[in-house]
Amino acid sequence: MEPNLAKIETLVRQLLVELGEDPAREGLLKTPERVARSLAFLTRGYRDDLATVINQALFTQTTSSMVIVKDIEVYSMCEHHMLPFFGRCHIGYIPDGKVFGVSKLARLVDMFARRLQLQERLTEQISRVVMEEVGARGVGVMIEARHLCMMMRGVEKQNSTMVTSSVLGVFRDQLATREEFLSLVGKR
Ligand SMILES: [Zn+2]
Repeated sequence: MEPNLAKIETLVRQLLVELGEDPAREGLLKTPERVARSLAFLTRGYRDDLATVINQALFTQTTSSMVIVKDIEVYSMCEHHMLPFFGRCHIGYIPDGKVFGVSKLARLVDMFARRLQLQERLTEQISRVVMEEVGARGVGVMIEARHLCMMMRGVEKQNSTMVTSSVLGVFRDQLATREEFLSLVGKR
């Protein structure tokens, strides 16, 4: 369901008042409208459809060596504070007959990142979908991200990066495979 932009605008206008602002002053006149459109964009992952995102971009691949896609940009919002977190996602998998088109992995990351998230859950959702959709023998996903809710408020840890990983199939069962993944993404 598409968000009701007019309603969000009204809520943002009320929020501005509660924060001590005057929504009628020149600089803020169009802010509720902009915020509404921006929030709709930043949460459009709720309205993405997996089948459309993947769009049959699976290709036959007979080798079974590890496929790695590094440094996919991630922009998401933490569900606790509705503040951005952002960083990079690395995905590795061992195909079992099929591989993804590379751009599809990036779209997949976006589909799950463009909603209110926890970094841990985002990491897991990506790994599960790659595992299931590509029918991989194993998947490893690692996300390194910085959270504005930590950097701008609270503990104000400006330089801390949160690292999460999710491993499935042979990445979970075989230490050597997991180590290969970590070394290929530069973490060992
Ligand atoms: Zn947060």
